[in-house]
Amino acid sequence: MSFRVRFVDPRKNYRMIKDEIDAVYFQVMENGDLINRHQLRHFEEHLAGFVGTKFAVGVNSGYDALHISLRAVGIGPGDEVIVPSHTFVASCSAIVNVGATPVLVDVKDDFNVDVGLIEQAITPRTRGIMPVHLNGCMADMPAIMALARAHGLKVVEDACQSLGAHTDGRKAGSWGQTGCWSFYPFKMLGGYGDGGAITTNDEDIARFAVNMRYNGEDRETGIYHGHGFTALLDNIQAAWLDVKLRHLPAWIGRRRAIAGMYREGFRNLPQLTLPHYEGKDHVYQNYVVMCEERDALVKHLRDGGIEVLVHWRIPYYRHEALGLRAEGFPVTERICSTVLSLPMNVEIDDDQVQEVIAAVHSFFRGNRR
Ligand SMILES: *Cc1c(COP(=O)(O)O)cnc(C)c1O
Repeated sequence: MSFRVRFVDPRKNYRMIKDEIDAVYFQVMENGDLINRHQLRHFEEHLAGFVGTKFAVGVNSGYDALHISLRAVGIGPGDEVIVPSHTFVASCSAIVNVGATPVLVDVKDDFNVDVGLIEQAITPRTRGIMPVHLNGCMADMPAIMALARAHGLKVVEDACQSLGAHTDGRKAGSWGQTGCWSFYPFKMLGGYGDGGAITTNDEDIARFAVNMRYNGEDRETGIYHGHGFTALLDNIQAAWLDVKLRHLPAWIGRRRAIAGMYREGFRNLPQLTLPHYEGKDHVYQNYVVMCEERDALVKHLRDGGIEVLVHWRIPYYRHEALGLRAEGFPVTERICSTVLSLPMNVEIDDDQVQEVIAAVHSFFRGNRR
């Protein structure tokens, strides 16, 4: 099916910055700068500057950023790590794959972890908390960091969906021992394939990640510092991401403008719950609304040529093969049965946003196909 309003539009995004992307491509190709060159270091410097940390280390995915971070802070078998029940499965899988035990806790109606439930879930085996900043809005980091300090816990932020968001002027990914980033194409800073990064203020953690992404090897001395991974961020991706990072502040502005149009357009629709959290910064990685008649609304919009997605229809803990506790998360259950994500990207124009708004209104007026 071809949609008139796309959820994201990589071809259009490319056309918007084609000259810059092409120039960087030719530079990299002509110089043969394929692995671990200045393009990677420049991007890391600029990302660290943007997030407000001393270091950034490029890796090959958001998942690996989480996985390597957990290892870097010393989490392993016998340790418990608290993670929200409403997140992308990779948050939890990284914990399982370092041999630790994920302890799931429910979220609040802002989609982020319920800090009161974190406190109740702490046991003598708890070693870490993995808050997730979902959709572009941060978890309550002041409260989480206070809990972590009180109980001596490590904090690995899954910030994959909130690049640029801040609380009290301090950016997502700069609060915990590490912040973890994904440059999967659909993310706000999306590459042309997989990519990720770790941000941190801790020099030892940064060095650990630099070694581990390169099979454990310190490239200067040739010494292996552990059994590592092949997990570098490709140089060409770093070069492209560096171009896109320069556009990011303006793109966040555009996302906020679209959110403002949606908010205005849906003002008189009590059937739709909108993602506005008073007093909280939001960068709108996703524009997630809630609706009791979700499935019918999704069908209506898709039939009308508007691409919408559902994150996620089935909570990850309900997938039997993952072997997780599958009960006791009422807020997550309600979210998963009512959410849909409307088109939110820097490619759509104002007319397309109005088209989405009109299509939603036509659904509630009963003009259903
Ligand atoms: C995208 C994402 C990840 C994983 O990132 P990849 O680069 O796809 O491995 C992890 N957590 C959250 C919340 C994400 O949105």
